[in-house]
Amino acid sequence: MGRCSKPCISESMHNILKGYGIILVILILNFKKKGALNVIELNKVSMLYPGTKDPALEEMSLKLNSGEFLFLVGPSGAGKSTLINLLFREKLPTRGGIYFDNKDISAYKKEEILQHRRRIGMVFQDYKLIKQKTVFENVAFALEVLGYSPKEIRIKVPEALKKVGLSHKEKAFPKELSGGEQQRVGIARAIVKDPDLILADEPTGNLDRDNGLQLMELFEKINQEGTTVVIATHAWDLVDRMQKRVVALAGGKLERDEKGGYDHE
Ligand code: ADP
Ligand code: MG
Repeated sequence: MGRCSKPCISESMHNILKGYGIILVILILNFKKKGALNVIELNKVSMLYPGTKDPALEEMSLKLNSGEFLFLVGPSGAGKSTLINLLFREKLPTRGGIYFDNKDISAYKKEEILQHRRRIGMVFQDYKLIKQKTVFENVAFALEVLGYSPKEIRIKVPEALKKVGLSHKEKAFPKELSGGEQQRVGIARAIVKDPDLILADEPTGNLDRDNGLQLMELFEKINQEGTTVVIATHAWDLVDRMQKRVVALAGGKLERDEKGGYDHE
């Protein structure tokens, strides 16, 4: 016992510091994962569909930081879906640049486009669930196409279903679910791949107000866990209620960008 003095102390200190070091690395890795996407920037983006006269988007500039929650509002035809599709890199702008972490996504090659889409969870108005697959299988499918192993799928799918409150519906088919539940499966499918960004186009369009509100609160929870969320909607009452950043489009132009309600006059 008497022999154990300085070397012992320094050895245990060393072990403690090593422990802290490991914890620190884990914290940094976790932080990095959620902070993987830092900023999205649109620089004077215009979009003119072939064969049309008026641009769907006109000189739109916007900056979105990691972890933000943004509502994209405006009447039908304002350009909301066009913007969502441009961010998903499903379409290319006619003019201007779209940058994810300073990288121009228009310049992406095939493999980079796939990687880009991997970072994004999409949610649609009509849910787009596969009728013949169960809830579990619908969510699992999002991982299967990305090459996840069966073991990873068995872990990740129940986690995602738990987050949206549908653990008890794993074996149900879409037609056995309410609209609100189907959309929650849509959200589980979007979040199961740990995206940096969620893009939702009129996600509450087919739902009543209560279900719509529940869904918005679910998006808010996901956002609070670090995922950037962009929701195109004209559900002004829900937008008013949520009090987030609101970007208003009209005729393809950015009309307003501020925190708060819809400003529906
Ligand atoms: P929102 O989602 O706000 O209703 P969209 O982005 O769908 O608006 O549409 C913006 C404008 O672009 C509309 O005038 C629409 O008719 C036009 N548009 C959208 N998609 C296409 C397309 N594939 N081809 C031609 N015009 C389109
Ligand atoms: Mg639309």
